[in-house]
Amino acid sequence: MKKIIKNGTVVTATDTYRADICIENGVITQIGGKLPDVDAEIIDAKGCYVFPGGIDPHTHLDMPFGGTVTKDDFESGTMAAAFGGTTTIIDFCLTTKGKTLKSSVDTWHAKSKDKAVIDYGFHLQIVEMNNEKLAELPKMIEEEGITSLKVFMAYKNQFQADDETLFKTLIAARDLGALVMVHAENGDVIDYLVKKAIADGNTDPIYHALTRPPEVEAEATGRAATLTELANSQLYVVHVSCAEAAWKIAEARSKGIDIWGETCPQYLVLDQTYLEKPNFEGAKYVWSPPLREKWNQTELWNALKTGQLQTIGSDQCSFDFVGQKDLGKGDFSKIPNGGPIIEDRVSILFSEGVKKGRISLNQFVDITSTRSAKLFGLYPKKGTIAIGADADIVIFDPTVERVISAESHHMAVDYNAFEGMKVTGEPVSVLSRGEFVIREKQFVGKPGAGQFLKRAKYGADKQTIHEGPLTV
Ligand SMILES: [Zn+2]
Repeated sequence: MKKIIKNGTVVTATDTYRADICIENGVITQIGGKLPDVDAEIIDAKGCYVFPGGIDPHTHLDMPFGGTVTKDDFESGTMAAAFGGTTTIIDFCLTTKGKTLKSSVDTWHAKSKDKAVIDYGFHLQIVEMNNEKLAELPKMIEEEGITSLKVFMAYKNQFQADDETLFKTLIAARDLGALVMVHAENGDVIDYLVKKAIADGNTDPIYHALTRPPEVEAEATGRAATLTELANSQLYVVHVSCAEAAWKIAEARSKGIDIWGETCPQYLVLDQTYLEKPNFEGAKYVWSPPLREKWNQTELWNALKTGQLQTIGSDQCSFDFVGQKDLGKGDFSKIPNGGPIIEDRVSILFSEGVKKGRISLNQFVDITSTRSAKLFGLYPKKGTIAIGADADIVIFDPTVERVISAESHHMAVDYNAFEGMKVTGEPVSVLSRGEFVIREKQFVGKPGAGQFLKRAKYGADKQTIHEGPLTV
């Protein structure tokens, strides 16, 4: 039966208006002033905003790292994402030197297939760019629909790729229509600083931040931007944490380089002092890049407001405090890097961004959904409310106040990075392709209902006439 969402205020990246939305067979088929109720299930959205479902372009679910595996897998992770108003995630498929890209993609399909409750795609990690990998890439992009490639400039002797690999990846991406993503930190310098700190007996969690200063992030960001210019390619910088890196992106953009920047909620509301918490609790806030001095938050908000940064990812990478983070007791370099953020990404941006007047309601939708859909080849099927688009919809109560806590969150992990934080606004119901995943704050979805998304090539959103997804 068709569904009609009535009495809500529809918000897209460009418009805010009162309308009813009709959903049939998973897609939006009508948007109008007063749609007739005949033969339809009516969903009352009175007093609520009706947003396109959030798109989280940066998650690590069921990922082996630091001698352990992230606590949230594709089931608990996507369920928590849905509670938070996210209906699509793009997860990082890790690859291994000497193994085919296809074998890694198959591994990620196996992790996600019967578990995801919302739709998902993959980014593909590049650790080496030799002839075998180069020969395999067109297939990954055209047949597998994996149109974004991730290069780590940090995590020496683990994920880190050298500049030659990054440069070759940029050239291949330009020729094949993919977007290159970088984790921009100078891994060689960090490796030296970490070893020195440990040798000097500086082993507490705070040294995680002190051995990865803003300069190493800014340097790598600038270097990646320069290589992108030289390759005449395109670049997306993940998890920008500090002003210096945001400025590098702004500078590159002003030169006409095709570069985009993502930040994360944790960098907007938490700061470096969290790593100084006693009783090893600082370990809860160990991720890379690290939390920064508080003044950076204003600069990051300004960058979002003025469009110098365009998206917000969660960088969800959760480890329990007890049993996982404590692998690094007595040696901060052994603390598994990452935090549980997937559930609160949208709420924090609404509460701290829209409610506090830092960004507009339409900017909020653009930053949490639409822009990622465009950059990662999902628009206009995802990322907007339009006729023919997938009915990925969040009914959001903008007035309800709540306190974020591990006691009430839905992630599998034993702590919440935003514990005790008051936020205004919460998703009431969330639909994925027209089916409820969250209904009146209750989970009603199904593991395995989420579909793998083959994504269009980079730049497909710039076509003036869209072919395919917009036919009803
Ligand atoms: Zn990440």
